[in-house]
Amino acid sequence: MTKSYIPNWLKQRVFLTPSRVALYAEDTSLSFSELYEKVIDRCNRLTSIQLQEESYVGVLINNTKEAVIILHSLQQLGITAVLLNHRLTPIEMGFQISDIGMNTILYDQEFESKMNELKNVTPRLRMISFDSIDHLPLANRFIPKERFEMDATCSIMYTSGTTGRPKGVQQTFGNHWWSAMGSVLNLGLTEKDEWLCAVPLFHISGYSILMRSVLYGMPIRLYKKFDEKKVNQDILAGSGTIMSVVSSMLHRLIDDLDSIQYPDSFRCMLLGGGPAPKPLLEECIEFNIPVYQTYGMTETASQIVTLPPEYSISKLGSAGKPLFPCEIEIWDKRKKLSPFEEGEIVVRGENVTQGYYNREEANKENFVDGWFLTGDIGFMDEEGFLFVKDRRSDLIISGGENVYPAEIEEVLLGHPLVKEAGVTGIESERWGQIPVACVVISKEIKSEELIAYSREKLAGYKVPRQIYFVDSLPRNASNKLLRRELRKWIDK
Ligand code: ATP
Ligand code: MG
Repeated sequence: MTKSYIPNWLKQRVFLTPSRVALYAEDTSLSFSELYEKVIDRCNRLTSIQLQEESYVGVLINNTKEAVIILHSLQQLGITAVLLNHRLTPIEMGFQISDIGMNTILYDQEFESKMNELKNVTPRLRMISFDSIDHLPLANRFIPKERFEMDATCSIMYTSGTTGRPKGVQQTFGNHWWSAMGSVLNLGLTEKDEWLCAVPLFHISGYSILMRSVLYGMPIRLYKKFDEKKVNQDILAGSGTIMSVVSSMLHRLIDDLDSIQYPDSFRCMLLGGGPAPKPLLEECIEFNIPVYQTYGMTETASQIVTLPPEYSISKLGSAGKPLFPCEIEIWDKRKKLSPFEEGEIVVRGENVTQGYYNREEANKENFVDGWFLTGDIGFMDEEGFLFVKDRRSDLIISGGENVYPAEIEEVLLGHPLVKEAGVTGIESERWGQIPVACVVISKEIKSEELIAYSREKLAGYKVPRQIYFVDSLPRNASNKLLRRELRKWIDK
């Protein structure tokens, strides 16, 4: 097969529009040519320690200017960046490091103590802080590539591990390119566009913004920490036209707004990461915030399905239609289902990963005839709008009926005193399984009241039979609910 290539995209961007702003971060800005200069400087220093000979290098970053420079430097050096989540424990991080078999990690000095702990788990790992890169000699030998190979692995990100042990998703240059193209064909692009990034750069949600910036010639406004006040201030002052958010961020932005509305220059809230609660979407309509709901995953190099705001009301609850270069189907036992039939969501497109690193079994199971089986259950309506129900592995079957924890959680979360909710199934002699819920509440309430509240909104077989009051719910490093752990909390 002939290989396909793309011009070295950072170099091409600097050639085309050198003086455009690439990045606003930490009260400064960098143009694309300034960014490139810094990237070449880091590449020169890193070649003085032969880093380019490594195939995989770990990175432990926060949302900083230096992280952006380092991520681009690794692309230039032809090294696959393995993006580590800094909220992982040393053991979890150690697992990913040995899973890849990497020798070196580049880290933000902010994580010095984390690195010290990691030394106990991976004593042979070479650890290089961003600060120390500055003191490496300038080798001046680095010659940037003219082209990137589309099929070369650019990055590896681990799935969050909600359904089992995290898997390393290999993302090629081509995957990132097609993801960025799919997004721009959907959202369009204006000269004023500026993408607000308060989601982590080590997740595909943040990394994909970095790729869009260089491919579209568009600035990113990078936030080290999500602060609703600061973001609202910036948006109200006319900075930022698009923002990627998860639902908890959107909640906080709305709560902080009072009754002020966003300026018309603000084009889009791209909402992803998980199911979007209906009350939140209704509130956004009230506040005139254009929300594009999305469905996607690490394996699809960000969103693959999107619902534009004009359908927010008529298709409430839908994740939308596939991006232009992508396709979706609903399958049951490898057979395509008809509209409204529930089954596994399968996806196809050039943005979809070619496979997990070193996971033969999972690759065999999840990739069939060019399609990727997502492990999520959903259905499509007669017009092809996708409705995501839940993860296959979390499905509860009660008396032969499918019960989706997400649907029950959404109802419970609609109660004003419920702050968090997690639902799982427990064995029942009569029904096979029955749903039970763990909730975190803000003020005392009786479980009977919550059950009665659920009964008003849910069919009888979906009503949680028991409510457990807990202080917090089990979550992973990405803050996602670990439903498979709920059982342990119930048994406690
Ligand atoms: P693991 O695969 O290890 O269990 P993960 O699936 O949580 O981890 P991610 O790739 O970060 O890791 O998350 C993608 C998943 O998030 C999707 O497969 C889906 O279950 C969920 N998700 C994303 N968008 C939506 C959406 N709009 N509605 C419902 N669920 C969504
Ligand atoms: Mg997954």
